[in-house]
Amino acid sequence: MSEAPVLRMESVRKTFGSTVVLRDVDLEVAPHTVTALIGASGSGKSTLLRCANLLEEIDDGAIWLDGEEITDPRADQDAVRRRIGVVFQAYNLFPHMTVLENITLAPRRVHGVGRAEAEERARELLERLGLAAKAGEYPDRLSGGQQQRVAIVRALAVRPRLLLLDEITAALDPELVGEVLAVVRGLKDEGMTMVLATHEMGFARDVADQVCFLEGGVVLERGTAEQVFVDPQQERTRRFLRRIV
Ligand code: ADP
Ligand code: MG
Repeated sequence: MSEAPVLRMESVRKTFGSTVVLRDVDLEVAPHTVTALIGASGSGKSTLLRCANLLEEIDDGAIWLDGEEITDPRADQDAVRRRIGVVFQAYNLFPHMTVLENITLAPRRVHGVGRAEAEERARELLERLGLAAKAGEYPDRLSGGQQQRVAIVRALAVRPRLLLLDEITAALDPELVGEVLAVVRGLKDEGMTMVLATHEMGFARDVADQVCFLEGGVVLERGTAEQVFVDPQQERTRRFLRRIV
């Protein structure tokens, strides 16, 4: 028996009006693993991540985080969100705050960590991600890649149990993509559990333990990176990969 999953989704259904965006989605994310969600634009990747973080309310099914059913109406949604770090495509840093202030905001305001401790932790993370010199800068003085790395530090600052990354390189100039992916690779090596939506197939193949191919809100195919990229079982997966790789 493998370790209990960090995240588990069962028969998750999500609709917007009459549009079914996720249908019967099952997902299990084991501790210290990376799950890559791939699929065409509109296939439901972002919605799946938003449901996992309770940013969207699901219509049917259930979601567990570390064995606790977080879609139970009695669950403490804020407490759940505090255990999940999220990074989106657009870095969403607060422009009027320095890098250090951006990173220490949630630990201080939401988690009740003291300023000195929050700043020490932030500086440690910045150091690890090669951003130590940027602590006092405002976001507009940083490159897109640096801003996105700061956004990752900000998500890590609350010591999340799970990190959700939604196309975090999609808005970056191609030459800046590598430095951000290297950070994700480093986090994986440190054992962080992650679910990421990505169009970077080479990266997904390299870093993911599990790959899920979504189409029309259905997980059409899933397996190890090797299985999905080298020997996909579904014709539609093959077609998607031919088009994108
Ligand atoms: P992906 O991230 O794979 O591109 P999304 O999860 O963003 O896919 O979208 C899946 C589908 O859900 C799309 O058809 C999209 O138009 C629809 N959708 C997403 N968010 C909303 C919303 N807030 N209201 C209505 N439709 C939405
Ligand atoms: Mg998306």
